[in-house]
Amino acid sequence: MKQQPNATGSGYGLQVGQVCDGFQIEQVTPLPELRATAIRAIHQKSGARVLHLHAPDDSENCFAVTFPTPPPDDTGVPHILEHAVLGGSGKFPVREPFFEMVKMSMATFINAMTSQAYTVYPVASNVKKDFFNLVEVYLDAVFHPLLTEEVFRREGHHLSLEIPADLASPLKISGIVYSEMKGASSMPERLMWQLAGCGLFPDTPLGRDAGGDPERIPDLTYEQFQRFHRELYHPANGLIFIYGDIPTAEQLQFLAPVLNDFERRAARVDTPRQRRWSRPQRIEKPYPIGSHEDPAARTFLSLNWIVGDALDPASVMAWRVLSGLLFGNEAAPLKKALIDSKLGADVFFAGAWGQSYEEEFHVGIKGSEPDRAEAFERLTLDTLERLAIEPFAPDRVAAAFQQVAYETLEVNTGFPLQVLFATNAAWPFNADPLSFLNAQQHLETCRARYAADPRLFNCLIRAGLLDNPHRLRVVLRPDRDAQARADVAFAAQMARQRAGLSAGQIAGIATSAAALAAAQSVPNSPEALARLPQLTTRDLPASLRRIPTEVGQVADMTVLRNDVFANGVNYLEIDMDLAGLPAELYRWLPRYYEVVGKMGAAGQNFARIAERRAACTGGTWAYCNGYLHATDPGRNLRRFRFGLKTLDGQAENALGLLGDLIFATDPRDTDRLRDVLTQSRASYRTTLVNSGLETARRQATRGLSPAAALDHLWVSPDALRFIEAMHTDFGQHAEELMCSVERIRDFLVHHARWTISFTGSDTVFRTLTRTLESWSARRRGETVPDILPSFQPFALPPREGLAGEMKVAHCLKAMPAPHLAHPDVPLLRLGLYLANYDYFLPEIRFKGHAYGAGVRHDDAHGTLCQSSFSDPNIVETLEVFNRLRAYVAGQRWSQTDIDRAIIGSAKEIERPIRPAAANGTALIRYIRGDSDALREARYAASLRATPEKVQEIVLRVLDASQPRAAVCVVSSREKLAEANRRLGDQRFAVSDILS
Ligand SMILES: [Zn+2]
Repeated sequence: MKQQPNATGSGYGLQVGQVCDGFQIEQVTPLPELRATAIRAIHQKSGARVLHLHAPDDSENCFAVTFPTPPPDDTGVPHILEHAVLGGSGKFPVREPFFEMVKMSMATFINAMTSQAYTVYPVASNVKKDFFNLVEVYLDAVFHPLLTEEVFRREGHHLSLEIPADLASPLKISGIVYSEMKGASSMPERLMWQLAGCGLFPDTPLGRDAGGDPERIPDLTYEQFQRFHRELYHPANGLIFIYGDIPTAEQLQFLAPVLNDFERRAARVDTPRQRRWSRPQRIEKPYPIGSHEDPAARTFLSLNWIVGDALDPASVMAWRVLSGLLFGNEAAPLKKALIDSKLGADVFFAGAWGQSYEEEFHVGIKGSEPDRAEAFERLTLDTLERLAIEPFAPDRVAAAFQQVAYETLEVNTGFPLQVLFATNAAWPFNADPLSFLNAQQHLETCRARYAADPRLFNCLIRAGLLDNPHRLRVVLRPDRDAQARADVAFAAQMARQRAGLSAGQIAGIATSAAALAAAQSVPNSPEALARLPQLTTRDLPASLRRIPTEVGQVADMTVLRNDVFANGVNYLEIDMDLAGLPAELYRWLPRYYEVVGKMGAAGQNFARIAERRAACTGGTWAYCNGYLHATDPGRNLRRFRFGLKTLDGQAENALGLLGDLIFATDPRDTDRLRDVLTQSRASYRTTLVNSGLETARRQATRGLSPAAALDHLWVSPDALRFIEAMHTDFGQHAEELMCSVERIRDFLVHHARWTISFTGSDTVFRTLTRTLESWSARRRGETVPDILPSFQPFALPPREGLAGEMKVAHCLKAMPAPHLAHPDVPLLRLGLYLANYDYFLPEIRFKGHAYGAGVRHDDAHGTLCQSSFSDPNIVETLEVFNRLRAYVAGQRWSQTDIDRAIIGSAKEIERPIRPAAANGTALIRYIRGDSDALREARYAASLRATPEKVQEIVLRVLDASQPRAAVCVVSSREKLAEANRRLGDQRFAVSDILS
């Protein structure tokens, strides 16, 4: 399609065929759905392809360069390269230009990602000068990286000694990607992704692990790594994506000099299709659990198919709608059949999605047993057989279409990234980059297809699933001995390797590992840093971005109305004050919101409520939270939150549903209640282990503030034990559970104070106002005196280890911190910001090879937490935590350092305002009393910061808090025991996450 620029005048008069700064304009296409114009161009000398989505109304400019990088093997070379190119380049030979830019830019997004088939480097910023600075650094990084052997060894893998000073100690393998992938491969969910995703494509690059299999990562050589860059990171293989309001001509002018260094060459990457099987295949694999853990209900089962071409938007859309029909809500027929069968605890890994250019379909359950695989497969196929014959009810189909419509309409946080990924669904595979951008049009086409052929989805089930032999069954079963076997095999492999080395070679390994570690602590010189393009404090906005909110009153409720463009979607949230809730009910709140989300209400069963939810909303949500008031340190807020989103035409029904959920949620269907409890147990079991750092944080902060204690009451190993006790003896606990849920419901309806936040259209706001008036009439509304839930401050700060099956550690040290209103806070944060980049990053990530680390002031809970994530070390990391004070005391920060921290932290408060996030943020700020004036006062205080003052404040806070610091480490029993052997009187008390 070749068209003239649209009426908004964007495209700046660029004509197809015209040459501009060495770029030939190939196509100009209006994209009204995105309020943008697409300009495609090719750089004639280098062959680089450019797509600019010029969006005159959006100041969040985004740039990304994508290279198709199909993995040649399982060594993770694309992923290691992704890390390494950001480690220094020709024009900017500083150590870690990427992290220096994260630290001192106002990037709203800056990162890099490796997918199964391509690697992408995106940056985004609201500030034009900053945007071009980031682009300049990224372009030099990808096209002229230094790729030193040191960076390869650090990011990929290298040998070192378990105890560096002891030449007789065993060899070990270290590397940041190596740790990251060891952390990822501890999770059975990722293993399922791996086995089921890659398992469908054994004969193509899609069957290999682009992230890196920890067992194969050490096979990668430095030469292979360099060659992979030489071959694929050339402009002719590069796809340059740009989004935002900066004119095309300016963008091209900026790019031209960089690309002029290169000569065009053939660099197209193949996208081979998997040869289809003539009969279904099966895989069964063990995954490790703790040697004392119960393997019951820990098996994952899935059925997986390749169903079509992920580059064909019509087919992709049909599969997306069918996924919604089969799994989209609690009453969706395949989901319901699986839950009702009780073959597993919950459905997971289910639906259609594109794996690069191939479309897949998956049906999975978790919380099952290996010997149920046959029954699971039979039930799935029988249900699909029935669904291929019976017509789907038209209102269910309509609801499934509508769920997809939300995805196409919503303007989410990170919107430019969303557009980038839609482009990358096609472009890296030699298909039209615009093909997935007009999603609404594809949805309408699919609707028309369905109108013409109401058996569309039945036929899709028949042809795509039942009659399709390219099907893979995966059984992933728990194995108590798997880890021990793997450890023995690894130790033997290291011993063999060691046996082949001379004493001199071993000494050499120790020396080069020590040299690598030592190099990480050497900071960049001020002269080297000055070469990076950067903002000054003069480039900062004079005042902060405010959410335009009007505060009003409807009956006895405060109503916030936010004036933010929402593209036809309406967002509503209701905050309910828990002050006055009887103390013994707090622990039941998560059960209450699970009942609201999954059970029936107002005389209708859960299936009917689920159908109504799917028919008139884009989702409802309910959860509780505790936090400190922004100006009064003595006020502990405890709140409940209801929310929903709905389209303009459906608000009446949506509010009707919400009213039923709030006023008449019903926990009395005991069969369903038991299923819901089974799902919660499965979900807690995975969350507590997989989000190990969060588990550590909740454990270590629970005695530091009442808000943190609530967080722990709701999600923790103790909370899981509470669920398990109820589950084991359901008959005995059911009545208390149902009764507590009803008491919470009645409290929220009659006694809680409500505050409402709304973003959306005028008509829906009028409907909302009427509804709130009628709801108000149904509330008895008497206030009750507040009762604080019990809070036990730590008498002695504990040192705890929580054991779960994992190959890495998550370490956390928590201490009390100044309240948000304290005048020290803005400067404290600047000091911690610098420590994050200049201390935690080099010491824990670059030297310790943990995937992440840092320190954070959490003003909602009033805590200061130091942490590490996917960390191979425990003792060394805790020592880094302990040395924080000495580090800060030893700094001679310059005003430039402080200014960089001011600029870098300003990005946190200058995020673009997108409707869903704005609606929630406006509400929480109002509830906490964190007004725009207060936020601006903190910002102004940070602008006045001096190095001496920042240092003084950080030291003061650490001195006051350090003696009250609690520690919690989440790791395997073996790693915790090993740490305890070295810790002496600083030992952890170890308990199990799952018991
Ligand atoms: Zn990574």
